[in-house]
Amino acid sequence: MNHVTQSLHAGGALVAGDVDALHRRLAAMEDAEAAVVLASGMAATACTMLALLRTGDHLIASAWLYGATRRFFERELPMMGIQVTFIDPTELRAWRRAVQGNTRALFLESPVNPTTRIVDLRHVRGLTEERGIALVVDSTFATPINCKPIAYGADVVLHSATEYLNGQDVGSAGVVCGTEELVDEVREKMAVWGSLPDAAGIARLHRGLDTLAMRMERQNASALRIARWVEQHTDVKRVLYPGLPSHPDHALAGAMCDGFGASVALALAGGPPAAERLLDAVTVFQHSPTAGGVVSSMRRPGLTTHRTLAVAQRPDALIDDSMIQLHIGLEDADHLIADLARALAS
Ligand code: PLP
Repeated sequence: MNHVTQSLHAGGALVAGDVDALHRRLAAMEDAEAAVVLASGMAATACTMLALLRTGDHLIASAWLYGATRRFFERELPMMGIQVTFIDPTELRAWRRAVQGNTRALFLESPVNPTTRIVDLRHVRGLTEERGIALVVDSTFATPINCKPIAYGADVVLHSATEYLNGQDVGSAGVVCGTEELVDEVREKMAVWGSLPDAAGIARLHRGLDTLAMRMERQNASALRIARWVEQHTDVKRVLYPGLPSHPDHALAGAMCDGFGASVALALAGGPPAAERLLDAVTVFQHSPTAGGVVSSMRRPGLTTHRTLAVAQRPDALIDDSMIQLHIGLEDADHLIADLARALAS
């Protein structure tokens, strides 16, 4: 245990040096100049956009977003006089066509929750560099262990640290990584919009980072095994996992990522009733609306994390009510496969 972790464990009090050490640690992990921890992933997204955008500005956003992020862009930003255009993130021409004179930022999620689609940052980078537009990437599902978006042209990297970075299935936190200047502005927004993290959240995140690399290594390996197993099951219509050759972004994931992640999306041949039966029948997988922790979990994104997306928006996010999202934790992969086999047969 290093001295920083020790002091956090000792009294539970929040010491300025502890927070600074955590910020430096996160910045180093993402190869960024600076980083700041906030109360949640949504606080990270909201404060970043408030720092980057002003009334009269324009944002181009991927249409494939976490439900609350989409809601923030669709409902809150326009109320502040900020215009938002949603596009298919895999089409470079769509990003290009959407650019206006007042476009200040591009926002995307990669890998996309819950479809695990990967967006080619290298293509978008050309456009943002040429036009001086900030490229903001929500990298929650990659973690800095699997991908460092700054190496591919991102200006700002966001995380819901509630998920993998923390990894303890408890509490909430968010992270913003970028230049000193941007991070200073995010800090200001964080203070006035009431988005500061608490001492326990800072301590948990320090502890979570101690095991992140080991957790991700095992979770990447188990998820790949499980994705391969479910793909050959007769009751499963489709599996989306970047490590499978059948995934539309398999080659891209191989080029940009060091691991394929812990999230596996599947569609069952029996549709929504079969999805409901599977959720009822599993015993090792837990039902949880959040992912990223040590315990494996299962959810229906169409009814949980992405329920607020209007049905008309779902096809472009590839989400339907039969989709199941598996989050693979640290349990033995054979044990998880046995749970799925038994539940699918029930
Ligand atoms: N971004 C992604 C990709 C997420 O999956 C989530 C939460 O699930 C968030 C942002 C929001 O994070 P939080 O719940 O910490 O506010």
